[in-house]
Amino acid sequence: LLQLSAPLNMLGMMYREVKQAFTNLERLFGLLDERQDVQDRAGAVPLRVSRPRVAFENVRFGYDPRREILQDVSFEIPPGGTVAVVGHSGSGKSTLARLLYRFYDVDAGRIAIADDEGALRDVRDYTQASVRGAIAIVPQDTVLFNDTIYYNILYGRPAAGREEVERAARAAHIHDLIVSLPDGYESEVGERGLKLSGGEKQRVAIARALLKDPAILIFDEATSALDSKSEKAIQAELDRIAVGRTTLVIAHRLSTVMDADEILVMDAGRIVERGAHAQLLALNGHYAQMWRLQQQERQAEAAEAVPASL
Ligand code: ADP
Ligand code: MG
Repeated sequence: LLQLSAPLNMLGMMYREVKQAFTNLERLFGLLDERQDVQDRAGAVPLRVSRPRVAFENVRFGYDPRREILQDVSFEIPPGGTVAVVGHSGSGKSTLARLLYRFYDVDAGRIAIADDEGALRDVRDYTQASVRGAIAIVPQDTVLFNDTIYYNILYGRPAAGREEVERAARAAHIHDLIVSLPDGYESEVGERGLKLSGGEKQRVAIARALLKDPAILIFDEATSALDSKSEKAIQAELDRIAVGRTTLVIAHRLSTVMDADEILVMDAGRIVERGAHAQLLALNGHYAQMWRLQQQERQAEAAEAVPASL
């Protein structure tokens, strides 16, 4: 009996480990309990690109065919440029990111990416692996794997070497913290290991993205979980890594999107306003109203920060 129970225990442990790893992966993409049924088309070609142009053309999509979420969404991100998306929660912003990463296929219209030769192709005509290889996402709430911090960064590009991992960590301003830990890069993080703060986890996510060195970057409310001091620091890093990359920024705070080439205001799955920051303010619509509201909040925050003795 003893002889048998040891390997069985081992198997049980391995099963739990493997299951945990998958759970982590699914949670990373917010996909728990969702099916991925995106398939490569016959004749799909690999996407080879350094400065892609991305186009959403009359995109319609619903997670459930009975409920359309995106209704006729069109926009374009120029090569190396930035488009920002703002709007109330539930308006469909993250859905844009999920479609670009091809977790799902659109119901009508198309998402197209132009390669360096300028040929604009439907994402469905590129291999899924190559499209995902070209994109890095910094999400709102980074989930760390129950593994070493080294592996958590390496995940951005598993073929990378030690030096590249450290370079990415330095650029994301997390290297010094890591080497100050007793186990350094071998420190276990995640639910069963060291608990990192929200800002530290976001830096790990940035290091992952930098290691991947993607042509296309997606920030999905990447700083909204942070206090305003960490937010400023992380925002500066995000701005820096976005330079020269085709970037989709989903933003909670409007102050972070002022410089975008174009800002889209989403409401209930539609783009209701679009333009540069100054144009949208002049329009005096949804965006201008959101801007005023956030300015008031900022002033209230600043007033709270004044010491009581003054
Ligand atoms: P935002 O990022 O602007 O907050 P989302 O794109 O996440 O909005 O969601 C848009 C709408 O789609 C919401 O009504 C949301 O409830 C719905 N939705 C999001 N994800 C799913 C899903 N996996 N299955 C069904 N409905 C979803
Ligand atoms: Mg969202």
